[in-house]
Amino acid sequence: MLKDQVAVVTGGSQGIGFEICKKFAENGARIAIADINSPEKLQSAQQALQALGTEVRVYSCNVADSVQVADTCKQILADFGTVDILVNNAGITRDNLILRMSETDFDAVIDVNLKGAFYMIKNFYRVFTKKKAGKIINISSVSGLFGNAGQANYSASKAGIIGLTKSTAKELAGRGICCNAIAPGFIATSMTENFQANQELIKSIPAGRFGKPEEVAGLALFLASGSANYITGEVIRIDGGMAM
Ligand code: NAP
Repeated sequence: MLKDQVAVVTGGSQGIGFEICKKFAENGARIAIADINSPEKLQSAQQALQALGTEVRVYSCNVADSVQVADTCKQILADFGTVDILVNNAGITRDNLILRMSETDFDAVIDVNLKGAFYMIKNFYRVFTKKKAGKIINISSVSGLFGNAGQANYSASKAGIIGLTKSTAKELAGRGICCNAIAPGFIATSMTENFQANQELIKSIPAGRFGKPEEVAGLALFLASGSANYITGEVIRIDGGMAM
């Protein structure tokens, strides 16, 4: 489905990002991971994905640092020659009630989750517009659609991602580039490990369970594929019905 297409995935060494890389690799894509995770974690993700028979390169990069992002994007283009799919997935939480939330924690979440995606899009913008094709997929959250107590920073960053997605989509639609957002509910990754046994929370999800990272990856594969060429500026919830 994605034969020989170059996919760049931020935060792709674990969790949802890794499953997206895996799904893309299984469908023939060449993979570039930009991630701040430990060298060991990056190497083990690279090995696991290479076993699927595709080219995989990993780049140590803090997406909140515009200089590191520019250098990484340059290196990716030198190594792969182009980019066809960009997935802005890297994200963090620093939860607290607003009263107790430090400005540092507010800024840290905005810098990674929102500005990181902006830097990535900006650095690949000309590549996409020149080839008049491409897919940009931004990982938002239901918190960005509906807010969440204790997550003012995270919800603001994920709502910002939706505005960034729609503006990018409007700027680039005429050139054949699609930009969409995925808004997951509770997905079983290290980000949510403290909540996964919370029965009250599980009861609030109509599907009665947390989502699996590979289920989010399936949606990302659809949005990256030719089947989604006429979908842009959309935000798709994947939350077991929690936020309907
Ligand atoms: P995860 O398991 O924590 O994976 C996130 C990855 O991003 C990690 O490899 C992490 O590295 C990396 N990362 C963090 N900060 C970075 C930075 N500054 N630069 C580059 N990479 C960075 O989380 P996940 O659950 O897979 O989340 C993936 C995305 O889905 C995030 O945007 C998250 O907000 C979103 N999301 C998740 C859920 C959920 O329920 N899990 C729900 C809605 C939305 P380190 O481990 O070293 O920090």
